[in-house]
This record gives sequence, C-alpha cells and structure tokens, in this order.
Amino acid sequence: MTKSGFQLESTYAELPGVFFSKLSPSPVSQPELLIFNEKLADVIGLDLSGMSGEERTKLLSGNFVPDGTAPLAQAYAGHQFGNFTMLGDGRALLLGEHLTPSGQRLDLQFKGSGRTPYSRGGDGRAALGPMLREYVISEAMHALGIPTTRSLAVVATGETVHRENELPGAILTRIAGSHLRVGTFEFASMHEDKAITQSLLDYLIERHFPEIKEKENQALALLEATVEQQADLITHWMRVGFIHGVMNTDNMALSGETIDYGPCAFMDAFAPDTVFSSIDHKGRYAYVNQPYIAQWNLARLAESLLPLIHEESQEAIAMAEDSLNGFEQVYKAKWLSMMGTKLGFAEVSEDDEKLITELLDWMDENSTDFTNTFRDLSKGDHPAGELYSTENFQAWHTRWQERLRDEVQDLESSLALMRSVNPAVIPRNHKVEETLQAGEEGDLKPFQELLKALEKPYEDGEHLKPYQPPPKPEEKVLQTFCGT
Ligand code: AMP
Ligand code: MG
Repeated sequence: MTKSGFQLESTYAELPGVFFSKLSPSPVSQPELLIFNEKLADVIGLDLSGMSGEERTKLLSGNFVPDGTAPLAQAYAGHQFGNFTMLGDGRALLLGEHLTPSGQRLDLQFKGSGRTPYSRGGDGRAALGPMLREYVISEAMHALGIPTTRSLAVVATGETVHRENELPGAILTRIAGSHLRVGTFEFASMHEDKAITQSLLDYLIERHFPEIKEKENQALALLEATVEQQADLITHWMRVGFIHGVMNTDNMALSGETIDYGPCAFMDAFAPDTVFSSIDHKGRYAYVNQPYIAQWNLARLAESLLPLIHEESQEAIAMAEDSLNGFEQVYKAKWLSMMGTKLGFAEVSEDDEKLITELLDWMDENSTDFTNTFRDLSKGDHPAGELYSTENFQAWHTRWQERLRDEVQDLESSLALMRSVNPAVIPRNHKVEETLQAGEEGDLKPFQELLKALEKPYEDGEHLKPYQPPPKPEEKVLQTFCGT
C-alpha cells in the first residue's frame, strides 16, 4: 500500500501526552465510498492513484490503517452554550498530517470512526445526512472564498446509527489547517501547569502564526492575532448570511477556518435575529450575535493564556482585556469595509454606514432575500419587481446611485466588485435538506448537482436557476438538528 505514496506525519503526537490518545478507527461492516473529492485531492497533492477503488474505500472507512500511521483522538474542553465541559474527539480521529507540495501541513481527520476515550455516552458514529451536510456546506464555503475545513470523502458504513430514528451511518474525511481550538487551550490551562499551555502555544505559533516567533510577549501577540483572524472570519460569514449555529469554544478553530458544520445554515430573508439550531432556544448564536460570541470565545482563550501573558495576574488581565476590547473596533472596520464592497465601494467612509444601515433596515422590514437583494443590486440596472418600486426603496436607490458617482472607479468596476462579493447562489437550507433526504434514500444525484451548482457561486448561469429562489412558505426548513 505504501506504493501509493500516501505518507502522513504526526507532529501533534509530539505534544505532551495529555493532549491525545492513540487508537485505531473501529472497523465498519460494509464500507462504500459514496463521494470522493478528486479536485481537492489534486490541489493538496494527495496521491491515492496507486490504490484500487477497494483499497481507497478501506482506507477512508478506517478499515485499513497504513503502516507508519498512528491515528489519535485529540483532547479538548469547551464552553457549550456558555457552560464549561470536558470534551475531546468523541467520534473523530486524526489520521495524521499531510504535507502539500507547497509545504502546507494539513490534518486528515475521520469523523464518525468509532468510540474514543472522549466519547462520554456517545456511540462514536455519525449519520449519513449530517456528514453529507458538512461536505456540501464546507465545499460551498470554500467556493465562496471563506476559510473553512474541507471535505475529502464520505463513506457509507453499511451500519445503522440509532438517533431519534434509525439512520444510515457514514464517515467523513475532513481536511483542516489543524484542529486546534479555543477549547484545546481551555483544556491545557486546566492542568495548572504553565509548561503544558506553553507547549500548545509553541505548537500553534509554529503551525499558524510563525511571524509571532519574533515577538517578546508571544501569548499576547497570539491573542491579538486571533482577534484579527476571527474578526476576518466572522466578517465573511456576515457577508454571505452564514449562521454557524453552534459557536461553542470547542468549535472555534485557531487555524481561522470555519469548523464543525452542525445546525448551520444560510439565511434566506434578512432578519438579524435568525437562528436555525433546534437547541438554541435563546438565540445565543443568532446571525447578529456572531461577532459578540467570537469576542466572548476569545475571552476564554485569553483566560487560558493569562499565566503566559504576565506573571502578575492583575497585569495579565489588564493586558488581555486591552487586546480583547480591540475586537469591537477591528470587527467594525472590517464589517464596514465588507458592506461597502457589497454596495460597490472600493473604499468606505464613516458616512457610508448610514446608507448601509438604511438598506439593511429596509430589507429587514420587508423580509427581502439577503442573497438575491445584493445580487440584484449588482446587476446595474434598477432592479425589477414590486418591492423595488416602492417609494422607500426608490429614495434609497437614488442616494446610493449618487454615492456611486463619487467613486474613483467607474461604474463597471463597482459592479464587478459587487459581483465578486455578492454570490449568485448559496446552499439554501431547503435545497440542502432536499438533497440530503434523497441521499439518505440512496439517490446521490441531486446532491451531486447541488455541489456542481455551488462550485462557482459568483458566476451567473442557467444551471443555477433551481437553486436561486428563496423557499416557498411550505418549503421552509424551520429547524436544523445537530444530528450527532
Ligand atoms: P459537536 O457538536 O459535533 O461539536 O460535538 C461536541 C462534542 O460531542 C465533541 O466532543 C464530539 O466529539 C462529541 N460527540 C458528538 N457526537 C458524538 C457521538 N456520536 N459519539 C461520541 N461523541 C460525540
Ligand atoms: Mg465540535
């Protein structure tokens, strides 16, 4: 099998032993490779060409572990809906790290590969629907230009998982910059041993923030860098109307990637308080709350780093608070500039905020479709349709046109900018659910077609037509379940 050139490293296993448990995936009875992301394999230089179809299936189901590969489950903790819990990979295993031809180090992880020491009461397995969901949304996010973990393959296990219903089981192969989370630091700091947290910090800096190696106060520099990183990520989410749904600290990756696609969804009608998750009763993770939650999560990271920021805890707290308080301003500037691009402004000024807010208020009042409204505006002509002919909209449109005339760039460039940030298509929840249902019943064609439609989301095309309209009232998916 080594003839395939498939060789993984595991620098993670060099961390102190508390951070992981080595174990192999639990074999499955009848693996069937349902989807393999050839393009992704190509891009990252993962060469499985030396393997037969059967060998690939065995590899990606965990039934075969190549020599020299030592899979491990990662330990972490986390605040789930605000409450601290000990966690860890309860149904995932890190197979190892793959080095791309350009020298990037990527984690290869199985999700749904069996029980681990961190499974708590769980069965360590995953259902096909949620794994297909992660596959399609993560690939859509990537195509939208948003940092995200990627999906390499989905294997049906041939086994049943028992949830509220009996469901077909599956294993997803996930590719990620790493699986270091805010919760990994929370886990480290629980040991009350500076050396443990320091080793994790060194590892994170080496892997994702090499520029910080030069800094005198590395822990503080790291905190500042994550403020930038997470503000960037949330700004992307807000741009496309993405709602993560479970922004627990264990689901915030320090690679800066979107991770763990559970009850996530894209907003149809614009409403800032939109929530999809069936378990988020209080709207903690609503669309509009995402930046505040990111800051809250970073405060948990900061707490874990305090002993490394300064020996005097009061000093450390003051320094950390200073960085954290910067989040609001950093995010606000990024948000404003992003919203500016959605309206065709190469550079945004403070005055533009009013124009942006007025549009959003109008969209909110009229429940207009978030994606389609911005794409309609990107077309140049006055958008057609009843809503757009109202007095309120006309008045706003005139002010926007005036503002566009002040741009240094010509109108065509403004429109091109808009089309590059306002997608023509997103994975709408009702379409996703529809294709997952077909997939669970054995028909993957609708899923494949949806994937195809989401490949180039900023280019118009006839093939997008079925995926562009918002759901009809009877098509609306009211709640999305974690499906764990
Ligand atoms: P998630 O909601 O997927 O981020 O998972 C939260 C925690 O629950 C993580 O520690 C998971 O590993 C664990 N978990 C989720 N589903 C299962 C399962 N079926 N068996 C064991 N652990 C699980
Ligand atoms: Mg998680």
